[in-house]
Amino acid sequence: MEKPRIILSRCFSYPVRYNGGIVHDEFVEILKKYINYELVCPEVEIGLGVPRPKIIILKDDFKKRLYQPETGRDLTHEIKKYISDFVKKVSGIDGFVLKSKSPSCGITSANYYKDDKIAGRTDGFFAEGVKNHFPELPAEHEGRLKNLELREHFLIRIFSYAEFRRLEENLDAGELVKFHTRYKYLLMTYSQKNLKEMGKIVADGKTRIEERISIYKKLFYNSFIRRPSRSKHFNTFLHIYGYFSKGLNQDEKKHFLSLLDKYKNGTAELSTILEMIKNFSYRFSDTYLLSQKYINPFPEELIYTS
Ligand code: SF4
Repeated sequence: MEKPRIILSRCFSYPVRYNGGIVHDEFVEILKKYINYELVCPEVEIGLGVPRPKIIILKDDFKKRLYQPETGRDLTHEIKKYISDFVKKVSGIDGFVLKSKSPSCGITSANYYKDDKIAGRTDGFFAEGVKNHFPELPAEHEGRLKNLELREHFLIRIFSYAEFRRLEENLDAGELVKFHTRYKYLLMTYSQKNLKEMGKIVADGKTRIEERISIYKKLFYNSFIRRPSRSKHFNTFLHIYGYFSKGLNQDEKKHFLSLLDKYKNGTAELSTILEMIKNFSYRFSDTYLLSQKYINPFPEELIYTS
């Protein structure tokens, strides 16, 4: 599998927190084995030392500021300048994993203050900057990635986007066909509408490949923004079942369909159904199904790590 390129908060690897601490997160540690990553610490980059007096977000109806109460420094200009330089120079990335609750990195999880009191939660400055500049890319914090459904969605996106970047480098019409074929069931689950549109682009032999890949890219990235519902997975399972059901005996059919019902009702897990599909695919030596990204979207270890 192509390795995704991810931006990580530096404190997942080095002791750069305001108090000189480091963050140990089991999932992020395992993730590092499967990705190429770049470490950033916006607070160190703007010249704050380690350790350093705490900084906080001050926010009212009109503006949001980054402030260091102990020194009285307003760091808003410095952090905004750093973010603007950062987004200009970074490219070829597939997502972000940033430390939660930080006034710089915290995604939707940083406290903000009003009249000397915590008044709510917001994005940290860096988190907000990258979300605004890269709206098509997934950005999560380590706390949210403990939820297996959110983690699965994040992993599907980063591993899919990494493969797309490789396709984009080659600009080969044959590779586009193979890519689209492998993503058929995954795209069907995420967006039937986009799958159809993308099929037309793949079949269009008249338009230049550069142009086709550029239009395809927008639809591809856009397809994965929302997490699909159970009923969308259920629909894909029925399509796959239709594909291999001829090879099953009556008991196997009954068992598989009853599992699908359980999945739809929330009493069976996605991974259970996918394992059964993989088993049938191996039994029938079905290379088409085995090549589908839907049944093998990312390295398994990543979902079984706590
Ligand atoms: S949360 Fe961000 S700014 Fe804070 S120490 Fe970690 S990397 Fe640096």
